[in-house]
Amino acid sequence: MIKKLLIAVAVVAGGVTLTIAQAPRSIVIRAARLLDPVAGRMVANPVVVVSGDRIQSLGAPPAGSTTIDLGDLTLVPGLIDAHTHNLLEPEDEITPPVLTKSQAYRAIEGVSAAKKNLEAGFTTMRDLDSEGAGFADVALRDAIDKGVVPGPRLFVATYALTITAGHMNNAGFSPDITLPEPATLTDSRDAMIAEIRREVKYGADWIKLYATGTLRHVNRETLEPLSQVSLDDVKAVVAEAARWRKDVAAHAYGGVGARNAVEGGVRSIEHGWILDDETLKLMIQRGTFWCPTLSVFRPEADIDKPTDFSRRVVESHKRTFQNAMKLGVKIVFGTDVGAFPHGTNNREFSYMVEYGMTPIEAIRSATTRAAELLRMEKDLGSIAAGRYADIIAVDGDPLQNIEAIKKVRFVMKGGIVYVRRPMTSDQ
Ligand SMILES: [Zn+2]
Repeated sequence: MIKKLLIAVAVVAGGVTLTIAQAPRSIVIRAARLLDPVAGRMVANPVVVVSGDRIQSLGAPPAGSTTIDLGDLTLVPGLIDAHTHNLLEPEDEITPPVLTKSQAYRAIEGVSAAKKNLEAGFTTMRDLDSEGAGFADVALRDAIDKGVVPGPRLFVATYALTITAGHMNNAGFSPDITLPEPATLTDSRDAMIAEIRREVKYGADWIKLYATGTLRHVNRETLEPLSQVSLDDVKAVVAEAARWRKDVAAHAYGGVGARNAVEGGVRSIEHGWILDDETLKLMIQRGTFWCPTLSVFRPEADIDKPTDFSRRVVESHKRTFQNAMKLGVKIVFGTDVGAFPHGTNNREFSYMVEYGMTPIEAIRSATTRAAELLRMEKDLGSIAAGRYADIIAVDGDPLQNIEAIKKVRFVMKGGIVYVRRPMTSDQ
């Protein structure tokens, strides 16, 4: 690991403490190839000059810089997973963690999760709901930013907004006992607005809204999800979030709830495994992003035993994905990692390609497209001058074979190297 290049020196002069920052040294990264997601092509023998936490230029290394030669590896922009839960572990899908784990314990699990996700090449993550771990996602984000623990750049949603009896309620317990819920039950527009203000106060970057219920609410015959919000509810949530310059992500499988979410102005639809063409077209009109999270519904996620119902959900997801691609919906890479093991998020790439994307489209969804969703396209998503120095290196050419994206040998985030694995080691 390379230590931080920016060395702060405290000087006490006449009772005043001054901080003098030493000029950052440059690091030069060389490799066999560089994947440019904007142009959709490989650049041979790149020379990337990093200064401090940003990319200074491509080419012409300054004198006296340190060189990292990555040999035959391919440089790829740091990956972005736009739907994650760092505070969630696979076993929490079976036992609600709000009932079995302290928030302190969950925060420690989050530290471990963030490290695994970073080491898998994900230098940025949108964390969509701590599922009852309080504001531990804010704490994790801040601790990562301060260099206390390693992890991706996080954009966090804290608690999610849901309704009584809807998604993220503890189900099957006695009404005579009061239990903590994994989300905030907001049964009126006033309650939704008050909850947004509370979340902003304690550090939320995004607002997460459950616009439809969960799988147990889905009609087993028609696959119609439970709509949790009216159009006016969504408009009120989006307007209040916008007051604080925050965007809204809506969990929505499809049906009326998803339609209301899109028409009401949310920035992204999460999951959406049964979005109809009319809603997909509306998403194009409104510029709504779609984060499909194919991984979490696949049998390989090993959350539940596959059933006829779960197979129908996967089939519908695939169909929706192909329709969305054909129509031109802005598809963003997201996984729901946490429901399955942290650090295995890159499985989503394989499913995207299996369902019909080309490797470059799948990689764009996790770089340039995801940066656009986050309104961070000037900072993230490509290896170009002025962007954060978020760079990974993989073994092989992921444009030829997407599986190469899983062979991560090097991870730099903000100019700091977190992973450098020898070429010979297997993952
Ligand atoms: Zn999720």
